Amino acid sequence: MRKHIFNAGPCKLSDSLLKNTSEAIVEFNGLGQSLIEISHRSKDFQAVMDESVELMKEVLSIPDGYSVVFLGGGASLQFCMIPYNFMASKAFYLNTGTWASKAIKEAKMWGEVVEVSSKDKNFSYYPKGYDIPNDVDYVHITTNNTISGTEIFEDLDVKAPLIADMSSDFLSRPVDVAKYDMIYGGAQKNLGPAGVTFIIIKDELLNKVVADRPIPTMLQYGIHIDKGSMYNTPPVFNIFAVRETLKWVKAMGGVEAMEKLAIERAELLYNTIDSSNMFVSPIAKEDRSRMNIVFVMKDQYKDKEAEFVAFAGERNCIGIKGHRSVGGFRASTYNASTIEDVQALVKAMNDFEAKNA
Ligand SMILES: *Cc1c(COP(=O)(O)O)cnc(C)c1O
Repeated sequence: MRKHIFNAGPCKLSDSLLKNTSEAIVEFNGLGQSLIEISHRSKDFQAVMDESVELMKEVLSIPDGYSVVFLGGGASLQFCMIPYNFMASKAFYLNTGTWASKAIKEAKMWGEVVEVSSKDKNFSYYPKGYDIPNDVDYVHITTNNTISGTEIFEDLDVKAPLIADMSSDFLSRPVDVAKYDMIYGGAQKNLGPAGVTFIIIKDELLNKVVADRPIPTMLQYGIHIDKGSMYNTPPVFNIFAVRETLKWVKAMGGVEAMEKLAIERAELLYNTIDSSNMFVSPIAKEDRSRMNIVFVMKDQYKDKEAEFVAFAGERNCIGIKGHRSVGGFRASTYNASTIEDVQALVKAMNDFEAKNA
């Protein structure tokens, strides 16, 4: 039996991805070869790459004037590649958690970071009503904070180029791509297996690459765009799997349908938490993530947290232990999670509470 997987990343992926990818690993397109044995420059793989890019544009309604590329190095490489390319002297970063802090650390190597942070309350809310200086090279945000459990649901209007790390809420709601100059993320939360990074970049942003700074070839966005993500050997297996996710999202009704399901799952879980005498959410209500649902036990039950993780595990609900920096629990309910997965966890929570009340 397939378990109820609440892992934060890598995480649950769709059954159609698992089936079609495993078949292609054994034999791809009736070629007498595996997907991972053929040349990335063969027409059969080129078709996979082209379809992945086209589906990405279609599913996310990406306007003209943007390129989609797939690279290695994870979202973490983007933390350094972005300032390397675009930070001449100063950039604005929203510091909303662990990943945003890591991005800031890299940016500081290249200039001044103007930072607005929610660290004062352990990243339990999403900052609002701040000013952005006029002279920044770009604004960097993390739309969903995978570890702390907050999310922003609007597409910001800012004057400077807007760059967003969407690793953990990508394709979970419609996004007005035109408001962003770059959207990126590691695939392993909503898009596919770990090992590929997606980048949606406005072609005009390339005009802002810092002049007079030598940038290693592999770290130049322009090269990867020009070469169609094939400057070097791309991660073919991962790109195939990403295509399977995009096909699945489209068949399910697109990002609008993904959002509806995400709201349904999150509401069920947050309602259970809010009506419980044992569990509590430390996150500001309006900023609660639909993808990473963070909760803890009330003080009088704190010593039962490990016991509940085991109790849920016996009921096939796995991956709910909170990140070591936050404690408690985190149920990650990405696109491939089902309402049945969440219902199973809710039942475990209710049963545990009844047993210990
Ligand atoms: C997981 C995660 C990352 C790191 O991604 P890697 O692909 O492992 O480098 C960055 N940002 C966010 C928001 C994440 O959730």
